[in-house]
Amino acid sequence: MGRIAYVNGRYTPHAEAAVHIEDRGYQLADAVYEVWAVFDGKLADAEGHFARLSRSLGELRIPEPMSRGALTVVLREVLRRNRIRNGMVYLQVSRGVAPRDHAFPTAPVSPAVVVTAKAVDHAAAEAKAAKGVSVITTPENRWGRCDIKTVGLLPNVLAKQAAKERGAAEAWFVDEMGLVTEGASSNAWILDRDGVLRTRDTNANILRGVTRLTLLEVIREAGLTVSEKPFSPAEAVEAREAFITGAGSLVLPVVQVDGKPVGEGLPGPVAKRLRALYIQRAKNTAV
Ligand code: PLP
Repeated sequence: MGRIAYVNGRYTPHAEAAVHIEDRGYQLADAVYEVWAVFDGKLADAEGHFARLSRSLGELRIPEPMSRGALTVVLREVLRRNRIRNGMVYLQVSRGVAPRDHAFPTAPVSPAVVVTAKAVDHAAAEAKAAKGVSVITTPENRWGRCDIKTVGLLPNVLAKQAAKERGAAEAWFVDEMGLVTEGASSNAWILDRDGVLRTRDTNANILRGVTRLTLLEVIREAGLTVSEKPFSPAEAVEAREAFITGAGSLVLPVVQVDGKPVGEGLPGPVAKRLRALYIQRAKNTAV
């Protein structure tokens, strides 16, 4: 069975799925997106991702393309048609199709909606988590509204490519104060020398990660100490543990920063425990 995508009201073979050349997402990155992890055919952290989608759309004054209920039906249908039990589902909403002009179209246009899905091999993902990953650091060079989940991802693309070329899985952006903001497609965390879990606060120019938010609850429920206090790459290297979070990575131990080992250079017990607790909770609450 071939892959199926949803494009503007139609379920289409993936190879034939296409948007118009004047889709504003394609020409101007005038579009937002969301990604849900999928466990057992269900959407993880569904509410958090829907809420952030509404916020991203609202910040850009793109109308909601359909109700949350209708969107849930489409997301589930794409999963069903692709026979995906475990994986990820991707949604993109652009302002729509209009003659190219930077300002919003004057005549009302309907937002353009694309949904795709892919399977994730959970055994491979667990093997990767058991080994841990390396990250590199790179100067923060993104725009000032990284809280909006837009498809304008060129700095993230270049950072991720730089990471890949250096054998790393992720790049952490470092701001002008020398502090880590977040990863190119994940939020960044350490367990510092005092045993405090630390991640950047959301007053900074970062995406408000849904996995990050759920994990904050998990951490508090587990009775661990957490502080939304930023850290530098040097503090990450001196930390006991480090990890990243996101709908793709879930909770993924980081064992090296810029080629230097974090702690023992192995995934730490706290990151491993938090990964297990997060996955358990995501499965239990998926809809
Ligand atoms: N930060 C950035 C820049 C991202 O692109 C992502 C996910 O794609 C995240 C953080 C993690 O967000 P979430 O946990 O909502 O997937």
